[in-house]
Amino acid sequence: MNRITTYASYLALTVVISCSPAPEKIIMTVNGPISTSEMGTSLVHEHLLVDFIGADSTGYHRWVRDTVAERVMPYLKEIQQFKVSTLFECTPAFVGRDPLLLKLLSDKTGLNLVTNTGYYGAHGNKFIPEEFYNLSAEELSEIWVNEFMHGIEGSGIKPGFIKIAVDGTDRLSQEHLKIITAAALTHQQTGMVIASHTGPDKPAFAQIEVLQSHKIDPSAFIWVHAQRGSLEGNLKAARAGSWISLDNIDAGREPGTAFSMNWYASRILSIKEAGLLHRVLISHDAGWYSPGEEDGGNFRGFTTIFSELLPALLYLGFTQQEVDLLLIENPKKAYGLKKSS
Ligand SMILES: [Zn+2]
Repeated sequence: MNRITTYASYLALTVVISCSPAPEKIIMTVNGPISTSEMGTSLVHEHLLVDFIGADSTGYHRWVRDTVAERVMPYLKEIQQFKVSTLFECTPAFVGRDPLLLKLLSDKTGLNLVTNTGYYGAHGNKFIPEEFYNLSAEELSEIWVNEFMHGIEGSGIKPGFIKIAVDGTDRLSQEHLKIITAAALTHQQTGMVIASHTGPDKPAFAQIEVLQSHKIDPSAFIWVHAQRGSLEGNLKAARAGSWISLDNIDAGREPGTAFSMNWYASRILSIKEAGLLHRVLISHDAGWYSPGEEDGGNFRGFTTIFSELLPALLYLGFTQQEVDLLLIENPKKAYGLKKSS
């Protein structure tokens, strides 16, 4: 190759590099990978089934998939009327995670459903399996990475994110330190984002610190139930690059009280005014079928964001583009995985 053609190829390469769009990202649904551009309106933290009986007693014998599917289906059809295409199901293993139920419901509705890997340490480790205590963070992470590489329990269905939970105490317990460390190691190997049921400020920053000690960017961390943290804490974490997940948006709260619709709208407005709306996720944290209760117990649907919160935000001057940021663009960025994974 002579010098001129070399230079020509250099120029051509420069053009390709400067014109190439951001690398395409995917999410891993229960039916395999899809491009984040296909996610559409997304609900990032909901539950279809939760079994609170405890890790020592839960299992697939506790419910009948077809019965659960029949009970859950109308709520999924309902969100499709609001153009929701993707729902992240946040029930972890040993709390009622059922990938095959999600696949059944995804096949029946056409919704993209995403399940998770990880353990739920909150509530004093009631939902942690016995073998956990004998495992190192590395060994724990191997279990989770294995689910990502090969699928969950031989189903071939892969998780799309890491869901963990820690107690809302000022310091992380040894067990919860192990859980966030295992999540960090799993993130490093898989790229999956870490959604951690957290609540107050102190455990949120304690977890972000653990990630930083592993040189993991704070954007790999979703502070779940950040509404239970202070506004200042939310802003600080968002500035650092973490995701602020304001969950449990519920029409049942008295106006003017904490966690009422107006409370959520004004928290989101404050974050927007600080220039950090691009770090906010919103969800109902609703549902769900409860095994052991008659007809699966009370089921809270997933539409309050559309029927109550969005009108409140629009009243406060939010634009459609800002609403789309909350429900389409931020979920893509938070949950998107590199295509190679
Ligand atoms: Zn939840």
